[in-house]
Amino acid sequence: MSLLRQIPQVSKWLEDFKGKYPEELVKRAAREVTDRVRREIKEGKRDTLEDLRQLVEERVRALSSASLKRVINATGVVVNTNLGRSVLAQEVGEFVKEVATRYSNLEYDLQEGRRGSRLSHVEGLLAELTGAEGVHVVNNNAGAVYLVLNTLAYGKEVVVSRGELVEIGGGFRIPEIMRASGARLVEVGTTNRTRLSDYEKALSPETALVMKVHRSNFYMEGFVEEVQARELLSLGLPVYYDVGSGSLLELSRFGLKSQEPSFGACLRQGVSLVSGSGDKLLGGPQAGIIAGKAELVQKIRKNPMSRALRVDKLTLAGLEMTLRLYLRGEHHKIPTLRMLLQKPEELKVKARSLLRKLRRVPSLELFLVKEYSRCGGGAMPELLLETYCVGVKHRRLSTSQLERALRQAEPPVVARVKEDLLLIDVRTLLEGDQEDVVRAFEWLEGE
Ligand SMILES: *Cc1c(COP(=O)(O)O)cnc(C)c1O
Repeated sequence: MSLLRQIPQVSKWLEDFKGKYPEELVKRAAREVTDRVRREIKEGKRDTLEDLRQLVEERVRALSSASLKRVINATGVVVNTNLGRSVLAQEVGEFVKEVATRYSNLEYDLQEGRRGSRLSHVEGLLAELTGAEGVHVVNNNAGAVYLVLNTLAYGKEVVVSRGELVEIGGGFRIPEIMRASGARLVEVGTTNRTRLSDYEKALSPETALVMKVHRSNFYMEGFVEEVQARELLSLGLPVYYDVGSGSLLELSRFGLKSQEPSFGACLRQGVSLVSGSGDKLLGGPQAGIIAGKAELVQKIRKNPMSRALRVDKLTLAGLEMTLRLYLRGEHHKIPTLRMLLQKPEELKVKARSLLRKLRRVPSLELFLVKEYSRCGGGAMPELLLETYCVGVKHRRLSTSQLERALRQAEPPVVARVKEDLLLIDVRTLLEGDQEDVVRAFEWLEGE
């Protein structure tokens, strides 16, 4: 009981931190910490008050700093959903900043001096890069799927293979989004095998659309059969393909063993509509891109829900500039593609250089480790990308303590753990990150 009575009043902290931090913040932090400490004492989990001042100060700082912040991705997962998926190219980011902090011709036709369309800035570029007659852009691909189904199949039936009724993560499930859109799902085939005849048997006068969904985040092996998009055309109905990651290039051209269908490849096969994300393999901002037959795209644009799902100007700025990099043949400037296409030899050089820099930190035991990175973001799940990591062991901290501590650094470092080794995968380190990783370990020395 005596420890409980020794907990200082909030007013002590207000006095202590007077002039250093705003009073309101100190009050809130002190109350939170006091409540927590009291609880811990009662539960027998605490027998000291020595760290109280530090706890209050840490809480004040946490309350006053931005919650969303830069982190260092040392996981080797390139399209890391938890860490913001794709990173924009430097010049794309600068362009977004300019559009964000200045007025722009977002919906203004400078030639004619009258109202214009916000999509005019990207539709020509997208048409050129995909070969589509018509394009539309919405907030994200989940929105695109909803809008396509709601426009073309509300109150009607949509035929989908059982093997493609996927869950993407974050609660996105094809059957659920379909229900929400007002379309009726007609499942055909089995989990592992679906044939064209299965689709044929399911057609009725109520069928509005045949839908194909890319199995973005898993793959099936063994006794499997699926119907290619091009074969579905023989059913005589519009075919809509949700390709998920939405690549603009054939990644196999660069030696990646990729099964990801690109927008262009699907449309060349004659698919009526394709949709995909802007921030997966495309490497741009979060967006949902719809491309295909002009007449269908027109209908989609006219759906009142289009307005609810429309993209904002920052997204458009990021998307336009990213697309321009593709058109200029400068896709190597797009971080997602650059990281995916890095060669093991380059990565080995980078890992060695980081390892040398980390030698300055006395408590570390360091190893050069050959490993595999992943694409992530629900794309190319089967692909193992050969990489090099710096393996780290700490003389005082266990590997899980080390991993946790690095997440508290500024900027936080998010690394991977394999058995008793912490791995820093250099594939996903951006410019300047190596130095910050070293600083994070040095900060740990002082803790
Ligand atoms: C990722 C994905 C989605 C959802 O896209 P978001 O841009 O995250 O909304 C939908 N369908 C497939 C097949 C996907 O891979």
